[in-house]
Amino acid sequence: MSPIGFIGGTGVRAPAAAAEPVQVTTAWGEACMQRLTLGGREVCFIRRHGLEGGIPPHRVNYRANIRALQILGCRAVLATNAVGSLDEAQPPGRFVLPDQFLDLTKARAGTFYDGARGVVHVDMTEPYCRRLRAALVAAGQEVGEQITDGAVYACTEGPRFETPAEIRMLRQWGAHVVGMTGVPEVVLAREAGLCYATLSVVSNWAAGMSPAHLTETEVHDMMLARREAINAVLEAACAALEPDAECGCSRAASWRRASSPPAGRAGCPTILSGRCGRGVLPSPRDRTTAPPDLTLRALPRPPVGQTILSVLRSEAGPSSPWTRACDLLPPTPTAPL
Ligand SMILES: [Zn+2]
Repeated sequence: MSPIGFIGGTGVRAPAAAAEPVQVTTAWGEACMQRLTLGGREVCFIRRHGLEGGIPPHRVNYRANIRALQILGCRAVLATNAVGSLDEAQPPGRFVLPDQFLDLTKARAGTFYDGARGVVHVDMTEPYCRRLRAALVAAGQEVGEQITDGAVYACTEGPRFETPAEIRMLRQWGAHVVGMTGVPEVVLAREAGLCYATLSVVSNWAAGMSPAHLTETEVHDMMLARREAINAVLEAACAALEPDAECGCSRAASWRRASSPPAGRAGCPTILSGRCGRGVLPSPRDRTTAPPDLTLRALPRPPVGQTILSVLRSEAGPSSPWTRACDLLPPTPTAPL
């Protein structure tokens, strides 16, 4: 049985003793985690803001964290987030399970696929795993904690809190809770084909929802007050969860693998859709080395699955300087992520 990934947010520490520290090296940097047993299951626990809690939301290495959990064999990831509430029905202290999100982040690496590994678009119809959410709801019932299943999570860049005007806008957009760390974590988990759900803990009313000014102390105090309940819900969820059960989340990963460039040449992405026959352009560097009479405008619409290089070979010939330059490029990595 694979271990369960657990990403603890603000105010959440390793929920079990005798945690074994592990450092995992990924292509996106180091991730520090702890191995422990929770609910009788092996858990890989990451403290999102670092072991000392000093990493702000916009500096968290989300890619390294998700990739590290994948490297350690996790297929299901539970997380927690402290959130402000925009919904009078979700007061401070309440547990909420988002089923949708709004992404208002600005300057984060939000994907494993930034072009070098092919152009990949992952489905986000149901970003949070329905199976994990059901397990968390059942766990809440088991330990006597009310959990609201289904909410729109708005993720802002932070680290500042939102203005009342922004909160009014987010309410009009349909948001129920607001936080700073849910995205791109959920997106990266989806890209990695992992089941992911997060237990959002309402730590405060959002700005302008109460007459008092919002303080960081208010957030931490509520998370401290709810720490035992958070751990109880997660322990019950881990005990009941079948981390290797199949569900729809893995389909995103299958789609990704199917459309990733096969063993080919870097800089020669596979044509993923017939629609991009005239839309896929070589990088500016490559364009400067292309023969002046050879532009993509002159190329025919390439068949799906064919690489740009193969189209160029047929159009420019094997002795073309550009074709020869492509041949010298290193092979594209074939391993996912
Ligand atoms: Zn799932």
